[in-house]
Amino acid sequence: MPNQPNALRIAVVGGGISGLSAAFYLRENCPEAQISLFEKRDRLGGVLHTEIQNGFEIEQSVDNFITTIPYGLDLCRRLGLESDVVTTTPRHRQTFILWRGRLCKLPDGFMMMAPTKWWPMAVTPLLSPLGKLRAALEYIIPGRKDDEDESMEHFAVRRLGTQVFERLIEPLVSGVYAADMKKLSLMATLPRFREMEKKHGSLIRAMRANQAESRKKARAQKKNPAETVQSGPRYNLFVTVKGGLSRIVDGIQNRLDLQGIHLGVQVTGLEQLPGGKWNVTWRKNDAPEDQVQTAEFDAVILATESHSMAKIVQTAHFTRMAELLGGIEHTGTVVVTAAFRREDVGHPLDGMGAVVPAAEHNPILALSFSNEKYPHRAPEGTVLLRIFSGGARNPEMVTLPEKEVEKILLEKAAECLKITGEPLMVSTSRWADAMPQLHLGHLERIAELRKDLEAFPTLAVAGNFLTAVGLPHCIRAGEEAARKVLENARPLTN
Ligand SMILES: Cc1cc2nc3c(=O)[nH]c(=O)nc-3n(C[C@H](O)[C@H](O)[C@H](O)COP(=O)(O)OP(=O)(O)OC[C@H]3O[C@@H](n4cnc5c(N)ncnc54)[C@H](O)[C@@H]3O)c2cc1C
Repeated sequence: MPNQPNALRIAVVGGGISGLSAAFYLRENCPEAQISLFEKRDRLGGVLHTEIQNGFEIEQSVDNFITTIPYGLDLCRRLGLESDVVTTTPRHRQTFILWRGRLCKLPDGFMMMAPTKWWPMAVTPLLSPLGKLRAALEYIIPGRKDDEDESMEHFAVRRLGTQVFERLIEPLVSGVYAADMKKLSLMATLPRFREMEKKHGSLIRAMRANQAESRKKARAQKKNPAETVQSGPRYNLFVTVKGGLSRIVDGIQNRLDLQGIHLGVQVTGLEQLPGGKWNVTWRKNDAPEDQVQTAEFDAVILATESHSMAKIVQTAHFTRMAELLGGIEHTGTVVVTAAFRREDVGHPLDGMGAVVPAAEHNPILALSFSNEKYPHRAPEGTVLLRIFSGGARNPEMVTLPEKEVEKILLEKAAECLKITGEPLMVSTSRWADAMPQLHLGHLERIAELRKDLEAFPTLAVAGNFLTAVGLPHCIRAGEEAARKVLENARPLTN
């Protein structure tokens, strides 16, 4: 219960999903704690935000999340949202690649970095005969055995050749990470592919072994269904929440003490007091710089973007930590969501969406056929398109005037999808400096940061820069930060 005299006082700085997950974990595991949540925006959620407009469900940043790590689904369960978790429709699980101005099907079985089926690779119009031959050589090119990092581009070209990299891997990875492939760290982003190379000598061999294993499991399940323990519903790789992912934010907000939520305020200072407690200083966004407030806390969780965090820890004179955090580059991204009448779209939209190789010189990174993936997102007879742009490839899209960005991206989408009519509605969101770039050296940087933080048991950090940008990873980071301060702060007040 809040306001108990000896209750633990914990400050959470940043009200994105990382900070919210931390606050919710604290609420669940230490109900008596007084949690103060400070958020610069006038709403919670950070980049995560859903807008509902005339029956269209518009996700302004996060579109869906993966279920291969459990933290997203687990949070939904704890918030009572499980029955509204929906998976991508099985109608058409196809991805397109824009190539020479036309949408071509990604070879069936191509999984982010490697093919799993020979025939679709052999017949795809996306690769020349030489490109295909070079890709097939991956099967016999000896695998690296060490753990040394390399760029995503270096890895992909080394294994599968330039064509597969430029035409398949680069657009697929850019559509998620919006990053410069020459700088993006393999080990920080997709380390499982190096693991596959190490274990099987080849990605193709590894993929085929994984498939054989899955088939074996499926056969065993068929033979002995009674022995197959299934807990709860089975999910596809990606899921979302019906009614919008903002319901996660609302669910957490409803479980926190509203008096402890400070919106529209910036934390501007942090100071460690003798004895280990912390002074946190903040001011309202519209207040003069000298009109600040300060309060004392037993523990502090910083869950802002790393560039903001660098400024906060600098005020505590943690110079090395500030350098580590401040050195993480970020890019901005743009999401334009537009609705059309179905009959105005010439393309059959028989897939989940499309990604665009850099070689196309098109400002679109990815196009998502939003209501083909999740039919509840748009009324019958309409189409909801989500256009993703910006990133390391097109940084200017974040700074150009909004109307100009919309015009450019809608024209390009209309070319790809043969759209003839005007949009029924358009919603644009731009996220400047929101996407951390996990460049080469990132893992070492984070390892150093974690080491420095060991000296401060009641200070923890969370955020999308720590391990991975995805929602489940941010939730895990928030929960781990909360666990750390709970384990260490308790003795201070006892
Ligand atoms: C366009 C886009 C699409 C994405 N799509 C997906 C997707 O489909 N699936 C997926 O899993 N992930 C996706 N992501 C990634 C994921 O959304 C983010 O990594 C995650 O939401 C980040 O959460 P966070 O809490 O770490 O950071 P943020 O959401 O950035 O929150 C940090 C908060 O800290 C606040 N803050 C900063 N400084 C201060 C201060 N001094 N005082 C107080 N508050 C402060 C900020 O205002 C902000 O609200 C996407 C991201 C973007 C931008």
